[in-house]
Amino acid sequence: MSQPPYPYDAPVSQTLFDRAALVTPGGVNSPVRAFRAVGGTPRFMVSGTGPYLTDADGREYVDLVCSWGPMILGHARPEVIEAVQAAVARGTSFGTPGEGEVALAEEIVGRVAPVEQVRLVSSGTEATMSAIRLARGFTGRAKIVKFAGCYHGHVDALLAAAGSGVATLGLPDTPGVTGAQAGDTIVLPYNDLEAVRRAFAAHPGQIACVITEASPGNMGVVPPLPGFNAGLKEICAADGALYISDEVMTGFRTSKAGWYGIDGVAPDLMTFGKVMGGGFPAAAFGGRADIMGHLAPVGPVYQAGTLSGNPVATAAGLAQLRLLDDAAYDTVDRVSAEIQGLVADALNKEGVAHRVQSASNMFSVFFTADEVQGIHDYDAAKRQQSFRFTPFFHSMLADGVYLPPSSFESWFVSTAHDDRAIERVAAALPAAARAAAEATDPENAA
Ligand code: PLP
Repeated sequence: MSQPPYPYDAPVSQTLFDRAALVTPGGVNSPVRAFRAVGGTPRFMVSGTGPYLTDADGREYVDLVCSWGPMILGHARPEVIEAVQAAVARGTSFGTPGEGEVALAEEIVGRVAPVEQVRLVSSGTEATMSAIRLARGFTGRAKIVKFAGCYHGHVDALLAAAGSGVATLGLPDTPGVTGAQAGDTIVLPYNDLEAVRRAFAAHPGQIACVITEASPGNMGVVPPLPGFNAGLKEICAADGALYISDEVMTGFRTSKAGWYGIDGVAPDLMTFGKVMGGGFPAAAFGGRADIMGHLAPVGPVYQAGTLSGNPVATAAGLAQLRLLDDAAYDTVDRVSAEIQGLVADALNKEGVAHRVQSASNMFSVFFTADEVQGIHDYDAAKRQQSFRFTPFFHSMLADGVYLPPSSFESWFVSTAHDDRAIERVAAALPAAARAAAEATDPENAA
């Protein structure tokens, strides 16, 4: 039996959403939270414990978003909460150096070999913005290369993504970003080294850096093809440009040393966020000491932040990273593999064409017939049948599983996803797979 589009309502969330919409654009502080891609009422969450979230209507969900990555130990992990409480009790911000930020920097440098020095900031956006400025300051060049489908936060120059047919010079994709801000951004198709070679040939000695998600998770999970990251590094090195690996999403999640721990390609600069903040606003950029030495106060490239290295955020991040040993990554990898298998089984049973793509423990589900070739770039990701995702999502939600409310996002799991949580996901999947199978394309409606 087919499900109605939104199988049950959420009256308290709806009331909160209505209130929010009066005082906040769209009722949310980050657009994807508004459920625009899937419709319905965004759930306002009031608490989280382990693998579960509880909404304002008192319903519990198995959380497969994990705050878009950070909550790799699950919610309210006691050791992290204790570290935060102890830090808060000592005061919340001093605007001076403190030992916590040294310890967090040491932890990052200790884990990720290419990072000789690191600067702490408060968001992934700030990290990539600062890394780009540093790359330009270091090289004395203006142009940057990014890839379509890669998201690096809402940095003006990085919001440029080539739309229909614009494959070279980036045009601003968002009102408010001027041509001047985006004009030095070259947007290329992901996983296409030839396109990168051509861009360097067209602009020799002018490109400051190539920035790429270490393994993209913002067009769904689309890992680099073998040799892609190494090729980027080689092309950059040959021209004197910097290779920047954005590990805001993959850092300290895909392995102890993030994606670098998997592909071993050493970037000149790297950016981090999410997991390293333990659920607080902490992020970082770092890399070669000779490049980082160009930052103020040592060098001329200015970069600063009132709350950078905040003592509560660094305490949370440090506590979380210290708990993330090899056994923790084994657990996250195993949970991820189990859930990927369950999703594939359920969709196969209903004959739904799909592809589950993963990068270590990050994964996403593309409803697509491109099962054999795989999805290697943004154009292919966009060809998925997103109309099947909407009823799939709502069926899972109705049955107590919280998925990212968009088919272009990675799913995230944690060490806290135990057998009970996985069983609840398994129990929800058959109806969701049926709903996906029965979905019809509104574009082709008679
Ligand atoms: N870089 C990547 C790869 C991301 O996934 C994100 C956020 O999702 C960012 C940068 C921006 O981070 P933030 O949202 O903390 O500004």
